[in-house]
Amino acid sequence: MKRLAILGSTGSIGQSALSIVEQFPERYAVAALAAGRNVDQAFAQVQRWHPQMVSLATEELAGQLAARLREAGVSGIEIVYGTAGTVACSTLAEADFVVSAIVGVAGLEATHAAILAGKPVGLANKECMVAAGEILTRSARERSVPILPIDSEHNAVHQCLRVGSHDEVKTIWLTASGGPFRQTPLKEFAGITPEQALKHPTWVMGRRITIDSATMLNKGLEIIEACRLFDVVPGQVRVTVHPQSTVHSLVEYVDGSIVAQISVTDMRLPILYALAYPERPKSNLTFDLAVLRHLEFEEPDFERFPCLRLAFDAAKKGGAHCIALNAADEVAVEAFLERRIPFLGIPRTIEEVLARTPEAHPETIAEVLAADRDARETARALLYK
Ligand code: MG
Repeated sequence: MKRLAILGSTGSIGQSALSIVEQFPERYAVAALAAGRNVDQAFAQVQRWHPQMVSLATEELAGQLAARLREAGVSGIEIVYGTAGTVACSTLAEADFVVSAIVGVAGLEATHAAILAGKPVGLANKECMVAAGEILTRSARERSVPILPIDSEHNAVHQCLRVGSHDEVKTIWLTASGGPFRQTPLKEFAGITPEQALKHPTWVMGRRITIDSATMLNKGLEIIEACRLFDVVPGQVRVTVHPQSTVHSLVEYVDGSIVAQISVTDMRLPILYALAYPERPKSNLTFDLAVLRHLEFEEPDFERFPCLRLAFDAAKKGGAHCIALNAADEVAVEAFLERRIPFLGIPRTIEEVLARTPEAHPETIAEVLAADRDARETARALLYK
């Protein structure tokens, strides 16, 4: 029986993780939930799962949950809050596996603390690897703690890598849907509106990640994530635009073989894989190969999607440049959604912030968070002057 600490339990990955627990009660139980700001949902999850510990974003929200649980006659659950609360959940002695699914750098400290405590991590949080991947993977290696990617592309790569050895890997191919502007001519990019960019053809996601998918910055973050997770250089990672989103990613070996992972487009599958690794439990997440008619793969256009080039540059420099890429993008996306800057202002802002970012390699999570704040300030100074 694996007892899980789920960080970000009320988000979509957290809910999918709980549905896996529901489906496999003989394999998984819930030890701790970090629920964020949604008290109603936290209340429902605590009643359903009876974790030992639950964390909310603030002291006030924790108080509200405590009152509601008292009224409902639920006792024996430790209620904590804030970053310290999330860390308490991720390091809880009774938890044997941590699902890290808090969006943004907010989940960083708790994820690192889990690794330091020797707990295997199922990682759904991209920003953690982009901002602090060098630190997280070093800590994980030193303690032989597995980090299992839940992001669909990296999960696919993880599966494909089981076929050969690290030295036999030539190229990791990350597939990209291409977003809504895959076929939009470059001259029309200047006029792209937030409404157009928020329409994504394949996946339903949050606002920032939807815009990131339209600029392909999302894929850029995944390039960096792949370098860290799989210990390869940026030159070994390539992006292929695959509009069907059926092949979740591929690994090319030195002998010329290319291994691909195909499955249903459902996040429960990578979550189950990460939770069960190295086992493969029987599931009902099937994919009908007979309905597959054609698969397309295209070279991405670096001219229309400059975020890809910026990401490769940042991946080569590492450290503060990767932190700045992520931080500047978040600020720029917000400005785009507020109609302060045009669509192409997003890569322009990132480029300007990167040009002002020193080549530094933060050694601690505190230094990572400081570099993240600096990059956000630089971006804001450029956009809100
Ligand atoms: Mg992805």
